Amino acid sequence: MSKYVIACIESDVEILDSLYNKIARIVDSDYIIESYINAEQALIGCYNYIIAGNEILITIIGSDTSGMKIDDFIIELHKNSPNTKNILFKEVTTVESLERIINEASIYQMIPKRFDRVDFELIILEAIKQNAQERRLKDYQKVLESAVEKRTKELNDINVKLEILATTDSLSGVKNRRSFYESSAPMLKYTRRENKKLAVLMIDIDKFKMINDIYGHSVGDDVIRLMAQKTKDTLRNSDIFGRLGGEEFAAVLPNTSQRGALKAAENIRFEIENLEYRTAKDERIKFTVSVGVALLHSNDPDLDTLLHRADLALYDAKRAGRNRVILSKDDENIED
Ligand code: GH3
Ligand code: MG
Ligand code: MG
Repeated sequence: MSKYVIACIESDVEILDSLYNKIARIVDSDYIIESYINAEQALIGCYNYIIAGNEILITIIGSDTSGMKIDDFIIELHKNSPNTKNILFKEVTTVESLERIINEASIYQMIPKRFDRVDFELIILEAIKQNAQERRLKDYQKVLESAVEKRTKELNDINVKLEILATTDSLSGVKNRRSFYESSAPMLKYTRRENKKLAVLMIDIDKFKMINDIYGHSVGDDVIRLMAQKTKDTLRNSDIFGRLGGEEFAAVLPNTSQRGALKAAENIRFEIENLEYRTAKDERIKFTVSVGVALLHSNDPDLDTLLHRADLALYDAKRAGRNRVILSKDDENIED
């Protein structure tokens, strides 16, 4: 544990002893009282204590005969121990050196050289008390800062959660309708600007009403969830996938040609066809999806126009018997 150092500097050994004895009466083992006969030694001693992790709490500086001037000592120490309370004997410094100390470091008190004439113990105790208060304040500040930091992080986490809540469909865990549209808009813009290809898929569970009717709404919900997760896994990370409502989903596939889009749609159809949902009563439910595919035209004003073509293709897939992928009629002649 680090200790608090009280450093006494005085060339007269008798005075130094008396300083030591007076301080020793009032402090406990958390404090180290050090006696130095000159400032040069004191500086080296104090630095060693600081390096070892201790704190220079107080210096009491009397007359000094070393080459180092008192103002140099205090200013030098201040650089590495700015909170030290420096107590100076009167008449050991000139006005000029006092000026330097005040401007470049600090003085806690000036006391008469006959320090037995003042309540010396009280001065030391007061200095210790002040230092402790400052330290507590600093500790408190640290606690405060870390509390603020923790709270900021919590708020950020909450914001992230709120964002997820606002953009996620609570049943299926994929993007909700709003988020699907919001994510798709910049992708569409980019695709147009860069003259790239883009496809959309409309995906709808076949005869879903029957699943609800036979097994109940909650099983229906599970099937929607399963279908959504499976489809999401089948798609690429860069694809935008969302639930538009009911058992109807849509995907935007950036950078995707007609062939690529048909392949992606067929993958989904195939994966879902081979999927099986097991109820709590161990009933096995198999279900299928139909997929309508449409490709972005350079003159499509918005996503809805494109989705509408995919929706018409989806309707065709339903009419043709379901569990199939149909490309929009308008895209049949587009070269790949
Ligand atoms: P089709 O093959 O033509 O798509 O037939 P379908 O039965 O799937 O189509 P329809 O649109 O007639 O039925 C969809 C059903 O989905 C009707 C509705 O009650 C049900 N549904 C919509 N949203 C939810 C939901 O969140 N959970 C459940 N369990 N059912 C839903
Ligand atoms: Mg359906
Ligand atoms: Mg439907």
